[in-house]
Amino acid sequence: MKFTVASRGDTLSDELCDTIKTRLLAADLAHDSETPDIVITVGGDGTFLEAFHSYAHRLEETAFVGIHTGHLGFYADWVPEETEHLITHIIKTPFQIVEYPLLEVVIRYRGGQREPRRHLALNESTIKSTEGSLVCTVEIKGEAFETFRGDGLCMSTPSGSTAYNKALGGAILHPSLASIQLSEMASINNRIYRTLGSPLVLPQHHTCLLKLLNDVSVQVTIDHFNVPVFAENVDTIQVRVAEEKVRFARFRPFPFWKRVKEAFISE
Ligand code: NAP
Ligand code: MN
Repeated sequence: MKFTVASRGDTLSDELCDTIKTRLLAADLAHDSETPDIVITVGGDGTFLEAFHSYAHRLEETAFVGIHTGHLGFYADWVPEETEHLITHIIKTPFQIVEYPLLEVVIRYRGGQREPRRHLALNESTIKSTEGSLVCTVEIKGEAFETFRGDGLCMSTPSGSTAYNKALGGAILHPSLASIQLSEMASINNRIYRTLGSPLVLPQHHTCLLKLLNDVSVQVTIDHFNVPVFAENVDTIQVRVAEEKVRFARFRPFPFWKRVKEAFISE
């Protein structure tokens, strides 16, 4: 089996990565950062998000596992003290796989000036105007739903529902629900502009299309990064549940609701 490690870059995480690497090499596992079977991240959820994007082109062949050297993570849910236990499990293989849904985002440009770009998000994609309000129509399954005017919109995965989506008042969704959630950022609501106001959850195959109506420059994000868009020329953003899934190597049960409780309520 081939493995690689990814560190947040602080001393503690770097040291832990070195230990893991040494132990796995000694057990005759091969270190391969190009085509690993398992990616072990050490740091936080941010570290995990970065690692996910590094291997997003080969998700079917990659399993991920995360250790948190700071607070409990949703993706990085192992504590450093469990490292030995984790190493033993990795050496023993085979391990169980748990899959979570992803968000597919397709960005199209006005007049087809540029090639559409497709991205996958593990947490969410957001669109915001960088100057004044964003005005866009929201279509669901090809039918006009509403016209949004406000700061922006957030389209999240179930596992991303505990991140930005939560700060926007979105619901927490269990990752066994193959779905995406659309939540608003400060919509303007009056007699002229009207939006639903509540977060919306869409099932698989219900494509949502945002069509920009005004000539603003926009910022589009996927997880932790800004997509290098031609900001003035974005025409539509299409989102849906992706065909691809992220695969977690599971060595012991840690139910999602327990992670939610321990992260937000009490240990
Ligand atoms: P960051 O600014 O360090 O992330 C913000 C926080 O979100 C960190 O505490 C991070 O955990 C945590 N986080 C990431 N994914 C999560 C998840 N699925 N559930 C619960 N918490 C999660 O930047 P980052 O670490 O690169 O993470 C990028 C994410 O930050 C974005 O995808 C977005 O969801 C989130 N974000 C949130 C807000 C907001 O809540 N207002 C605004 C912008 C971005 P770690 O400390 O373990 O990395
Ligand atoms: Mn972070």
